[in-house]
Amino acid sequence: MRFRKTLTFLILATGLAFHHSAWAQQKPFTQDQVQGMVRSGLGDESGTKLVEQRGIDFDPREDFLQILKSAGANEAFLEALRSAKRSLAKGQSAKAPLNELEIITLLAGQVPSHRVAILVKERGIDFDVKDDYLKDVRLGGGDDELVTALKSAKVTMSVTVPAASPQAAQPAVDPQTVTVYVTKTGKKYHREGCRSLSRSKIPMTLKEAKAKGYTPCSTCRPPQ
Ligand SMILES: [Zn+2]
Repeated sequence: MRFRKTLTFLILATGLAFHHSAWAQQKPFTQDQVQGMVRSGLGDESGTKLVEQRGIDFDPREDFLQILKSAGANEAFLEALRSAKRSLAKGQSAKAPLNELEIITLLAGQVPSHRVAILVKERGIDFDVKDDYLKDVRLGGGDDELVTALKSAKVTMSVTVPAASPQAAQPAVDPQTVTVYVTKTGKKYHREGCRSLSRSKIPMTLKEAKAKGYTPCSTCRPPQ
């Protein structure tokens, strides 16, 4: 019995999805759509599931709920509408920016793309949006609205990167690797161009020159 009812409901829901693009796109229900569902006899467990899955895009006032009740909606259905409203409010109060995984998780959890887009606009995101990521979002059910919201979202980085510039972060050139010059017979090392290098000029690093016992020339004053 229950199975047959579910099957009937699925056929009905599929038929509606076929005719109404708004349903096919998994958008939250409008007030008119909810009223239409109740009139079609879906103001019970079946409709409740749909409301829980897709959410609603309006504030369900008590007088509206009373109209639904008199049209045949049961308590579970009305409660689903009330909690859909509460989850919307809860989402608005959470101010932390969304991360990459949260957005994919929301989509995987059947949260409508439209609702996720609202969250992105309200809370911002904490990562750089890359094309590869947008592909994942689309695969997960994200629509154009969500992709646009992500592209234009306020990015708040939660990871603090040291403010040092790339140049400053690099180690200074090691003075020991500077090239100096020695001669065949002398005991000094020199800068390039020193007049002492006129007869012979043997390059080596400063470190090497010092290791071999050479001392700095007093004329050209090479690095020490
Ligand atoms: Zn010299």
